[in-house]
Amino acid sequence: MDTRRPFHLLVKPTGAVCNLDCSYCFFLSKEQLYPGSDFRMDDALLDRYLRQLLEAHPGPEVAVAWQGGEPTLRGLDFFRRSVELVERYRRPGQDIQYTIQTNGTRIDDAWAAFFKEHRFLVGLSVDGPRDLHDRHRHTKGGAGTFDQVMAGYAHLVRHGVDVNILCTVHSDNADEPLRSYRFFRDELGARHLQFIPVVERATAATVEGAAAGWGEGRAATRPLYVQQGDQAAGRSVDPAQYGRFLIAIFDEWVRRDVGTVFVQAFDVALGNRVGQFALCVHAPTCGDALVLEHNGDVYSCDHYVEPDHRLGNITQSPLAELVALPRQRAFGQAKRDTLPAHCRECDVLELCHGGCPKDRFDTTPAGDPGLNHLCEGYRAFFRHLGPALDFMAGELRAGRPPAGVMEETARRDAALREAVARTGRNESCPCGSGRKTKHCHGAA
Ligand code: SF4
Ligand code: SF4
Repeated sequence: MDTRRPFHLLVKPTGAVCNLDCSYCFFLSKEQLYPGSDFRMDDALLDRYLRQLLEAHPGPEVAVAWQGGEPTLRGLDFFRRSVELVERYRRPGQDIQYTIQTNGTRIDDAWAAFFKEHRFLVGLSVDGPRDLHDRHRHTKGGAGTFDQVMAGYAHLVRHGVDVNILCTVHSDNADEPLRSYRFFRDELGARHLQFIPVVERATAATVEGAAAGWGEGRAATRPLYVQQGDQAAGRSVDPAQYGRFLIAIFDEWVRRDVGTVFVQAFDVALGNRVGQFALCVHAPTCGDALVLEHNGDVYSCDHYVEPDHRLGNITQSPLAELVALPRQRAFGQAKRDTLPAHCRECDVLELCHGGCPKDRFDTTPAGDPGLNHLCEGYRAFFRHLGPALDFMAGELRAGRPPAGVMEETARRDAALREAVARTGRNESCPCGSGRKTKHCHGAA
């Protein structure tokens, strides 16, 4: 019996090195882990990594996933060699899915043609329209990068490359959910979107310094970012704000875009409802999403590239062995085993599962440690999704597409409008919010 588990490995061919200096990007500080390094995965290591990856995977589907820093800095020839090596080492029947996460500023015609030829799924970092994007996504000189990213995106579109927009949600764009969503949907024509909350964890000693960012500009004073502390630095999204952000987008999506626009947070919630966990953050356990650094070091997770979570190096131990280490299994099981009672008794536990351990630095109302900093937003969001999610899950079980939820929502909207019309302005709103109708759905 093959007891190997499928796993996902994010690979950093240039380590933490990036051509940009986005102010919230704590990963820039990880350069300090490798003083004197040239931050270039060499060809021998590339060969070893791909051979081990393809050998270690039990099933037919294998992801070859590039990330950074900015992985395109390693050069197109490196990626061409990677595809040749995959062709050399893949077993019959192995299906390869290439992905790359990029800031998009270096994408030209040649890159886009390459991505199309090899069916790459390209994750592109965009934080919304120009003013929102340029708030934190800067060049080393401090200039906005919106025009460069849009030029890269245009190449990808012209070549018909599959693109997944990754928008970070921080304190400066979180109050504009619909402006961002509509920009992606209507102006970019994007169909796959991810909204990732920025939580910059800090201690009392590092919280002020975090405001200066994590890039080279402050190389002399910046600390190494590690998952420590019980504070969230200034650019972090407020928990309630994050919940409102997702709810506003969901309310628009569920009325017109189901089946045509795919938002990761909504897909993941629906998956959880039917027992299919698509994202580690909201799965009961984790530990199957590891990182390979440019020199062969393997870490437990992209958010834990720090000395205590280094598992070994693939030049000394095979990748399959590192992935299966008892301490890595314990890392993943701890996600469930350290949940505070507040989560274990929560009415949306099956959708949330306590979120990512990296963000669990708050205290529960009963005083227990380990509550997710984003709890307030998660709880509001998952509760809000309830009825629509139930309906979509029912459609899936009946073998129908979940898009029928748009008609169902229109029917519920009409019923609510009629009920509101029959309700006095000072009476409780029939939506069940507990607020007076005049302050809720009856507001002028
Ligand atoms: S620590 Fe968080 S991001 Fe890392 S694998 Fe676990 S849930 Fe996923
Ligand atoms: S919503 Fe809050 S209490 Fe509920 S499982 Fe998530 S983090 Fe825990």
